[in-house]
Amino acid sequence: MTVDHAAILQTLLREAETRLVHLDDDERSLLRDRSDATADDEHDPEGSTLSGEWTRVDALRRGAELDRTDAAAALERLAEGSYGICVVCGAPIAAGRLEARPTAATCIACAR
Ligand SMILES: [Zn+2]
Repeated sequence: MTVDHAAILQTLLREAETRLVHLDDDERSLLRDRSDATADDEHDPEGSTLSGEWTRVDALRRGAELDRTDAAAALERLAEGSYGICVVCGAPIAAGRLEARPTAATCIACAR
């Protein structure tokens, strides 16, 4: 069975982009909430919920951006024919590692 790396990576890329779009929506609604925060303190008695949400969305955004970058870089390596080759030592990356982490750019030894 041949693994279709291009399809997997494109799915990952699209998935990360979708997440970023949703996070943009989340951020916009947080901005709205922030601007009329006085309208409803019922769920925010200490005024900390909003900034907590903000931190959470920001962390998710960083994760999604990283995933998008990783997927795009892996697709580039695939196009160049260097996909599955460790960018540090040049050794082949184990199939199991690529299966678990299709965007891996380094072998397990170099990732440590
Ligand atoms: Zn390596």
